[in-house]
Formats: sequence, structure tokens, C-alpha cells
Amino acid sequence: MLTKEWQAEIHKCAKCGKCRSICPVFIETGNESMVARGRISLAEALRNGEIFHTELLRDYLLSCKKCLRCSSICPSGVDYDLIIQAMLDDVANHLGIWLIPRIIFRLFLTRRWLFNLLLKTASTFQRLVPLKRHGTMRHLPFMLMGGRWIPPLAKKPVLKKYRNTKKIKNPKMKVGFYVGCLINYVYTDIADAVIEVLNHLGVEVIVPPKQLCCGIPARSLGDVKTARRLAEVNVEVFENANVDFIINACATCGRTLKRDYLHLLGDRALKFTDKIYDVSEFIEKYFSYETKILNTKITYHDPCHLYWGQNISKQPRDILKRSAEFQEMENPERCCGGGGVFNLLHYDLSTKIGEYKAKAVEKSGAEVVATGCPGCQLQIEDLLAAKGSPVKCTHTIQVLRDAMFS
Ligand code: SF4
Ligand code: SF4
Repeated sequence: MLTKEWQAEIHKCAKCGKCRSICPVFIETGNESMVARGRISLAEALRNGEIFHTELLRDYLLSCKKCLRCSSICPSGVDYDLIIQAMLDDVANHLGIWLIPRIIFRLFLTRRWLFNLLLKTASTFQRLVPLKRHGTMRHLPFMLMGGRWIPPLAKKPVLKKYRNTKKIKNPKMKVGFYVGCLINYVYTDIADAVIEVLNHLGVEVIVPPKQLCCGIPARSLGDVKTARRLAEVNVEVFENANVDFIINACATCGRTLKRDYLHLLGDRALKFTDKIYDVSEFIEKYFSYETKILNTKITYHDPCHLYWGQNISKQPRDILKRSAEFQEMENPERCCGGGGVFNLLHYDLSTKIGEYKAKAVEKSGAEVVATGCPGCQLQIEDLLAAKGSPVKCTHTIQVLRDAMFS
């Protein structure tokens, strides 16, 4: 919505163009309407009635990865995230939300049992399609396949598997685990690793079964109503769990829970957001532990939503250096090109942006690339599979688990 807060941010922009030097989308396209400065000019034109709400405008907004890199170097301190989100909400308000996403968001994301049923059906059908190394996304509608490869859906989602909390003797603290959709349905071993490591450190982990999607897909398309509903449910579920902290292992979910929930719910979300920790941030802040060094060379990719979005980069490196032979890659904070809605709508661009990352991973000479976001993991696996690379991608917590129990 065109709030005063939104308008004040627009005025801060000095049109210096510094954001052009760092924006992964602009670097690939050279299109001024696809960078922060250009979109701020579009916002001004919209406010002045010089342009209207059109699908073309929405396309320009959805070509933003929301990677937050531009905000990190903006000399005027423009809160670009606030502007782009307000524009997306405004456009959705005028043009509506596309039919299929609207059905998915409002019908499935807000009803866990229906979402489970949908994915269980997809999981059954995926067995009818042969698994290839690349070029097959067996459980998505054909129109979304586009040559991508992602791992199969898990047989049992995390929220079902960990319905009962594993009790540990004299726990040092009790944490709630916010799982997120990709870990719940695809990368379930990340959840296993989080729980095994935290239990080993003397932490009792509760996985509230009624938690829902963090809301970022809905928020990205301007569906504020669904995003707010999801936020309300998640806050209530974790408040009722009565835990000391809330842990997550997905950079994008973590940033959404920490920042977007305050925008969506205001002070009501304060107690909840104060408890949110990325798992690497939590472990490095509260524990000392012993590991064996794995006989594996590992490099690390900084997810934008951890590095720029939560200022977390040292903690995962400290964990990896204690767990394996660590080798930094060139420009590890450079975007991998992933990102849910952006990747679905702009797969070619997303792949082009990711080429640098795939090369940097290979050049590092590492056998494994670790990261802190299942979304990045999905993208990096796809990029590496396309190149026929033998390098494996994993989550930092999985490396720590292997080093702890080896
Ligand atoms: S870097 Fe900041 S002030 Fe400069 S053009 Fe981009 S958004 Fe505007
Ligand atoms: S958030 Fe990322 S993709 Fe969007 S304008 Fe800023 S740097 Fe570019």
C-alpha cells in the first residue's frame, strides 16, 4: 500500500546508481527497470500517476530476487525491501493475485492436512517417472519442469516423523524447531541433523506439528492476507509450545520470521521474533563442543538471506573449520541465482546468474559445498547437475553432525 513510510523511503534515493554495480539481475540483463534505482523510479511514476498498474510493471517487480545486496551498499540507506514489498502488495491489490498461486496459497498453505495430501499424491506419482540425473522434476506439473532437477519428495515429512519429542535427561534448554517447507518435504535429513546435534548438546527439541509455511511465497506475490494468516498461526503455535528459543535451518524462512513477521503483525510478534535463531548462530552462541575433522575438503556458499539478511557468515565457517578441511571459494557471498518465485518465473536468468557460483565451487577444488539454505541447495544442486559435476551440496549442520558422530 502507498503508506507514508513507503513514500519516505522513495525520497531517500539519491539515484546514484551504486545498486547497479551489485545487483545480480542488473549485471546479467543491463535493464534499468530490473534494478533498485529503476524500480524506485517506477514507484515515483506510479505515485505521480504517470504509469499504471499493469502486468508489465508486475513483471519488473517479480524480476527482483529480493537478495538484499543493494540495500547493503546503498549510501543513502534506502530500505529497498520495504519499497519493493509495498509495490508488490499495491500491484496485487489492483490487479489481483494470479489464479493458480492464489488457489495454492489460500487453499493449501493454510491447511497442513490438504498440503500433505497434495504432496503425498505428487510423491506417489513421482515413482511412475524414472529418476534422471538432470532434466527431470518428477513431482511438479509439466509446465514447471523447464529442464530442472530437484531431489525427490521424502516419503515422510519431518512434521510427521517428529510428532513425539525425543526426551533427553536434564535438558539445558528447550527449543522449538521451525522446519520450513523444503526441509519438511524434501531435505528431511537436514532436520534429522538439527535434532541429532542439538540433542547431543543437551537441548530438547520440540517440533510443533501445527506450524505452517513461513509465508514467503505468498508475500512475494503480494498476497498479504495469506502471509498474515500464516504468520498468526506460526506465532501462536510457538507461543503455545513454551520454548526458550526457536531454531530454523533455512536462511529465507529465518529472515522472514525475524523481519517480515514484525511488518505483518507489529509488536504482537516481538516475543516470537526475539527467540528466532539460525541453527549455526544458536550453536556458536551457546555451546562449545568437540568434533573429529572429516577427511573431506569443503567450501561454503553464503545464502543472501543469511549473509545480507541476518549478518551471519562467521558462525557457519567456524563450524565447518572445526569439522573438515575448509577451502574458501571466490566471492562466496555472490548470489547463486536461486530464490523460489524468481527461479520459477525466470529460470533462464536464474541459471545465468548461477553460472559464476557453479564455476567458483568447482574452482575451489572442494568435494562438498555447504550452505545454510535449502533453497540455495536446490539451486546449486541443479547448477552442478547440469555441468555433470561430482561436487555434492549439503547443509552446514549435516557436516557438523557427521563430524560430531564420526
Ligand atoms: S544505491 Fe541507493 S541511493 Fe543509490 S540509486 Fe540505488 S537505491 Fe538509490
Ligand atoms: S534485492 Fe537483489 S535483485 Fe533486487 S534490486 Fe536489490 S540487488 Fe537486485
